[in-house]
Amino acid sequence: MKLFIKISLKTVIKISEKFYLVLAGGVGAAKFIEGLVQVINPKLLKIIVNTGDDIELYGLKICPDLDIITYTLANIIDKEKGWGFQNESFHCLNVLKVYYNLGWFNLGDKDLATHIFRTDLMRSGYSKAEATAIICKKLGVISELIPMSNEDVQTIIHTPTKAMHFEEYYIKYKCEPKVLNIEFKGIEHAKPINKILEYIHNAYKIYISPSNPIVSIGTILSLPKIKESLEKVKDKVIAISPIIAGTTIKGPADKLMQSLGLEVSSFGVAEYYKDFVAHFVIDNIDYKLKSRIESLGISTYCYDTIMTNLEKKKALGNFVLNIPS
Ligand code: GDP
Repeated sequence: MKLFIKISLKTVIKISEKFYLVLAGGVGAAKFIEGLVQVINPKLLKIIVNTGDDIELYGLKICPDLDIITYTLANIIDKEKGWGFQNESFHCLNVLKVYYNLGWFNLGDKDLATHIFRTDLMRSGYSKAEATAIICKKLGVISELIPMSNEDVQTIIHTPTKAMHFEEYYIKYKCEPKVLNIEFKGIEHAKPINKILEYIHNAYKIYISPSNPIVSIGTILSLPKIKESLEKVKDKVIAISPIIAGTTIKGPADKLMQSLGLEVSSFGVAEYYKDFVAHFVIDNIDYKLKSRIESLGISTYCYDTIMTNLEKKKALGNFVLNIPS
C-alpha cells in the first residue's frame, strides 16, 4: 500500500531585499552614483535628490539636480560638462534669447524636451515625485529617484545688492557676490515625500554623496524629521567629503561654508554632519585631518576621492561599499 502524503502547506516567505539609500545633489553626486552602480545592482539603489535648485524659466519646470542624476543613470549625460544631454544643440535657446532677457541659463534642445514633458505632466496634476518616476521609466532608469519634496523650496542667496535664486548666483554671477545669508524659501510649508523617512529607517546603508553640504545636502536636511531620522540610524550613515585640500572641485561649497562661519575643509564638513554620520571618507590628500575628525566620534577613512574617470568612480564605490557599518 502506497501512502501519499499531500503537503498542502503554502509557506509565504517575505524576503525583503536590502537596499541602499543615497542623498544627492547634482554633479558631485552623479559622479559618485555612476561609480556606485558599477558595484551595486541599480535596482537596489534609491536616491533622494535635492530640489532646492529647481527653477521655473520660460514657463517650464526645471529640476537641475534631478536631471543630472537621471541623465547620468540613463547614460545620456554630457560627461564633459557634467549636465545636459550628449551631442546637444542650442537652437531653441538662441531664439528664446530674442524673446526673453534670460539667456544666462543654458538649456539644450534635447534637455528642453524633458522640461516640456515634466511641466505638461505637472500641469495635468502629477506631483513632482510622480513626474520624476515617469521620466525615469521613459529613459530606462531603474534606480528609484525621489525628489526630496513635492512642495516648492527655493534656495535664495542674499548678497549685499540683492537676493537671488541659487542658479542665478551660480551661473549668471559666477558665485562672485559676497554671500550674506542663505535662505530655503518655502521650507516651512514643505515636507519630505512620504516614503523617505521609511527608506531612511529601512535602508541597509545610507550614503551622503560628495555634494555641496549647504545647498544640496543641507536643503534635504532642512526638511522636517530628516535629520532626526538619520540620527536614529547614524551607524549606517557614510558620507564622502566634497571638500578636498580646503577647496571644492566645482561649485561654491567653500564660499557658502565660509559665509556660515564653518571651517572650509573636510573637518568642517564632518563637524557639520557629526550628529548623523558615523563614517566619513576624506581624500588621501587630507590624511592629516583624520585624527581631528575622529575626535568628533566619526570613523574616518582616507581614499582617492577625485573621480576623474569611470575606474576611479568604481573604485570609490567599491571602497564605500566595504566600509563596515
Ligand atoms: P551641484 O548641485 O551640481 O553643485 O552638485 P553637488 O552638490 O552634487 O556637488 C558639488 C560638490 O561636488 C562640490 O563641492 C565639489 O567639490 C564636489 N565634487 C565634484 N566632483 C568631485 C569629486 O570627484 N570628488 C569629490 N570628493 N567631490 C567632488
